[in-house]
Amino acid sequence: MAALIQHDETQASGGQAVQSGVSLAAQAVEKAKRLVIKVGSALLVDGQGQIRQAWLDALADDVSALLDQGKEVILVSSGAIAVGRLHLGMPVSGDLRLGDKQAAAATGQIRLAHAYQAAMARHNRTVAQILITLEDTEERQRHLNARATFASLLKHQAVPVVNENDTVATAEIRVGDNDRLAARVASMAGADLLILFSDIDGLYTANPRTHAQASHIPLIQTITPEIEAMAGKPLPGISTGGMVTKIDAAKVAVQAGCSMLIAKGEGLHPVQALLQGSLASLFQAQANPRKARKAWIAGSLMPRGSLVVDAGAQRALLQGRSLLPAGVVAVDGQFNEGDPVAVLNQGGQRLGVGLSAFSAAEAQRIQGQQSQDIAKILGYQARLALIHRDDLALTIAQASDEAPALTTPKEDAA
Ligand code: GLU
Repeated sequence: MAALIQHDETQASGGQAVQSGVSLAAQAVEKAKRLVIKVGSALLVDGQGQIRQAWLDALADDVSALLDQGKEVILVSSGAIAVGRLHLGMPVSGDLRLGDKQAAAATGQIRLAHAYQAAMARHNRTVAQILITLEDTEERQRHLNARATFASLLKHQAVPVVNENDTVATAEIRVGDNDRLAARVASMAGADLLILFSDIDGLYTANPRTHAQASHIPLIQTITPEIEAMAGKPLPGISTGGMVTKIDAAKVAVQAGCSMLIAKGEGLHPVQALLQGSLASLFQAQANPRKARKAWIAGSLMPRGSLVVDAGAQRALLQGRSLLPAGVVAVDGQFNEGDPVAVLNQGGQRLGVGLSAFSAAEAQRIQGQQSQDIAKILGYQARLALIHRDDLALTIAQASDEAPALTTPKEDAA
């Protein structure tokens, strides 16, 4: 299928703000409810390895304005290595050995976190540091835990500040660049918009630094091989990601129902600039995060076991609620926490597939029990639902699919 590319001549000429109407990027920001904003090292850290505090303060003003509008924001920030190497007296540029890189990250991350905390505290906002590895996003048990943590932080109106856990992630298991990490975070957290702020204002038909004729692409509805070819090869510099990693990120994001913007972040107040029509490329998601997650659960995962539910639980599920242990009458198969399981009614009809919050052995112990007794039975604090409604894809018709994504199980069980 050919790429659906909309060329906007006003935008393509000269990189200025659109002259009429509201830009696609501005609309995307206005519409978004849960945003992941990725900040590249080159924006946050100057050539001497110092944090550009004035820039960060201006970003914090923008984030606070988004929160004031009732939106939720997760920040993914690079810069730990760039800051840390200065403080350890390592050369400010050039490649570092893995051990040195990890030491630099450990040193820089604490300063980075402090800088974010100070910037957001100016607006009485709380930040929360999350350091994750590739495994945390891939392995389903950890994925569910990380997801629950994001849900709780956002519910308590904190701003998560995420980076890769560079000090423990070895080269083979690193994501390596925060573009792709941010896309995984966006997918895991059910975000509907990911903004990658970097030193380029979007995707061009060719590298604009070397091709004067290159034109800017404001909207990408399908990531075709032609679009991928436009990304070219990564450029050397302090940022690890080039356009290639941004396109990879876009693939992960749109698949998860999250649209993505590539925008220039160098100036102060980059979010405000987007709202005022600055140039950006929008990769448009076809589905919303909730539908995309359910399609992923229903379509690509092979159930490892099954839960048989009573008529009351079946009714609750059809109303869009979570599966509580009280409604489960039988547990079959061998599965771990986070594994997909089939949900059947007592007549053997398959109602759907979901990610179990408990292993088969635990599920057997809590089946038929009230949620508030789970901790007593298992001997530790656990989730209240056996399958959270966000993790359940029904294969039979449901009364309503309008419940908000990424709620905490507690709200749901209440
Ligand atoms: N995690 C790295 C850091 O904080 C940055 C990776 C990237 O540049 O994308 O220094």
